[in-house]
Amino acid sequence: VHMLQATAARVPTAIALSVHEAGRRSLVLDYAQYWSAVTACAGMLAAAGAGRGSRVALLLPNGVDACIATYGALAAGAQCMPLNPAYTDHELAEILADGAPQVLLATAGRAASLAPLAARLGIPHFRTVAPGELAVLDDGGSGHGPAPPPDPDWPAMLQYTGGTTGRPKGVDLSHRATATNVAQREAMLPTRAEGERILCAMPLFHAYALAMGLHLAAGCGGHLAILPRYQPDAVLDLVEREKITLFPGAPTMFVGLMAHERFAATDWRTVRLCYSGAAPLPAATLRAWEAVVGAPVLEGYGQTEAGPVISFNTEACRRPGSVGLPAPETEVEIVDAVTGEGPLPQGQEGEIRVRGPQLMTGYRNRSAETSEALRGGWLHTGDIGRIDGDGILFITDRKKDMAIVGGYNVYPREIDEVLAAHPDVAEAAAVPAPDAYRGEVVRAFVVARPGAAPEPEALLAHCRERLTRYKLPASIDIVAELPRTTVGKTDKRDLRRIAAARYP
Ligand code: ATP
Repeated sequence: VHMLQATAARVPTAIALSVHEAGRRSLVLDYAQYWSAVTACAGMLAAAGAGRGSRVALLLPNGVDACIATYGALAAGAQCMPLNPAYTDHELAEILADGAPQVLLATAGRAASLAPLAARLGIPHFRTVAPGELAVLDDGGSGHGPAPPPDPDWPAMLQYTGGTTGRPKGVDLSHRATATNVAQREAMLPTRAEGERILCAMPLFHAYALAMGLHLAAGCGGHLAILPRYQPDAVLDLVEREKITLFPGAPTMFVGLMAHERFAATDWRTVRLCYSGAAPLPAATLRAWEAVVGAPVLEGYGQTEAGPVISFNTEACRRPGSVGLPAPETEVEIVDAVTGEGPLPQGQEGEIRVRGPQLMTGYRNRSAETSEALRGGWLHTGDIGRIDGDGILFITDRKKDMAIVGGYNVYPREIDEVLAAHPDVAEAAAVPAPDAYRGEVVRAFVVARPGAAPEPEALLAHCRERLTRYKLPASIDIVAELPRTTVGKTDKRDLRRIAAARYP
């Protein structure tokens, strides 16, 4: 929040935030207005009892209010707890009971069910926020400044993860972790001191958009152009209308946009860098995207538990298919996936573990899971990968997505990549499925490119040329779309259920 304060003093009249609906700007704030809204929001939260040692929960869609409230909570000295607005009341009840916030801010549409829930859980303050309302909060001229610079050990963020892993866990991140990670990202991916226009189509409650949108813009005084929800049409319009320079996206977004009829005709010339993260980006997708857009795609690797940025490809060191070099002050090692022992010799595959100042303090109220994830200062990520001779990190798959086929370890992501490289395939996802004979097999699901009608037999022949026999998918189904988590990742847990149901 002190970074935002410094930026507001440096470029008070630069556009900070804009919201885009129905093909036009519906709201615009400059940095002076942004900062004054943040301090007013901090004052409002402080009056509601939020401060050091308490939490402020946000259930807000993408928009200026989510940005203001995030920094407002920090400026009040409280810990910010951004929540996915798509969570059902049932899911929220569990998270809110765990996080026990002092204040809950939510959209008016949820008031009927959330107000009684807040009362039942003993949340002292529940308040609804109309779109843009926090931007015009009156601080009564009291000039609430932010709380004194926070102790680096104070909790800053409480972020719930687990979209694809089951029960959500609250990741506690200190001010040190959050601020260091912003500096680490900036060291790897320097922004320009003027004139950056950053697309924000990813959800602002998630670690990715916080790092690669909210904080990135506040650090460089850039213009964060926010879409309330991701829609391919709206993204293409926004890129042209606001002359976007930085394009943070996720693989699903790249695939969706490439399938759009206006993709190639869009004027991409102002875009200088695209970032990809949150899920693996097949090298074939990266190449097809760059061939049209012209700007490089830099893929990074992050995890909420790691603040989130762990490694990134940079303009100077770029290896498509990899997730690049570790961030400054960040150690990455590969250890045995079963015993956790290591480090393993260079080039060998195993679980990725990470050490650095950006790591979480732990999972809230979950000491067993915390000691499982954080061992001797290392975060065990649950991702499988290897490091090459140049120190570049490659992710193979997630530990829990691995299949054991007749005793062999198979990483479904390798099959995803092989299928995605077929010219008729837009997207592919393979998952383990039970098999009476081999224990497990891998079953693949494919979305065809627009206008193409691939035959499963032909796709299987394509796989046969590229994969050892035991890795071949037992079936390939052509589907209209793949199941998604709310941040646009392929939901492999759901796909496993679908596979098990289709092939009992
Ligand atoms: P879940 O953990 O269930 O996916 P989430 O989306 O809330 O839920 P995140 O912390 O965003 O949690 O997920 C981090 C995970 O995303 C990483 O551990 C890794 O498996 C995956 N990931 C992130 N970036 C990449 C990448 N570039 N390539 C492959 N996987 C990635």
